[in-house]
Amino acid sequence: MTLVAGLTGGIASGKSTVSRMLVARGATLVDADQVARDVVQPGTAGLAAVAATFGPGVLQADGSLNRAALGALVFADPDQLRALEQLLHPRIRATIAQQVDAARRASAPVVVLDAALLVEMGLHAQCDVVCVVHCGADLQRSRLMARNGMTADEAQQRLAAQTDDATRLSHADHAIDNRGTVQELALKVDTLWQRLMQEVG
Ligand code: ATP
Repeated sequence: MTLVAGLTGGIASGKSTVSRMLVARGATLVDADQVARDVVQPGTAGLAAVAATFGPGVLQADGSLNRAALGALVFADPDQLRALEQLLHPRIRATIAQQVDAARRASAPVVVLDAALLVEMGLHAQCDVVCVVHCGADLQRSRLMARNGMTADEAQQRLAAQTDDATRLSHADHAIDNRGTVQELALKVDTLWQRLMQEVG
């Protein structure tokens, strides 16, 4: 049996750090961020659909996606954002399902589906368990500033645009508190890994 563990958390909560630690312990990673980039690579039906809907201005001269131009369009207009999500989310879901199936066929014991929008996209419904990393808004802000060189205002804007921890945690089977050091996080991930392996049976 393959256990599919959804992994989510707010921006800069530590999702990637936890998923790297789980992969080091033997998990197979399905990275929703990577899939979201893959479905709009040059030559894909996804990129063709985006260009057909939003116009050639969202393409670079070499035919690849101009993320800044597309971002400027959709973040200024919620209807456009919804239109983009309607185009891409089904493709992202289908590719994730294919990758999970491939891991099942390879008899992977644990698949970690790392997805910032796990709950928002309804992906949690396809997971056997949901793991939520959290560290509170103050630490998210300071880690975001340190990692991305953002000002406090920029970091705050990113946080304010997101679902809150309480909503995510209401779907959690396993909550991972990342308010401590990375070493403390590693010990928590050891415990989580043991629990996941127990659930595999
Ligand atoms: P995003 O949502 O932007 O993809 P994320 O949730 O994947 O972020 P990480 O990139 O894992 O978060 O962590 C955010 C930053 O905080 C990184 O620079 C990471 O090295 C650092 N970090 C993670 N956990 C800790 C910790 N316990 N103590 C200090 N720094 C940490």
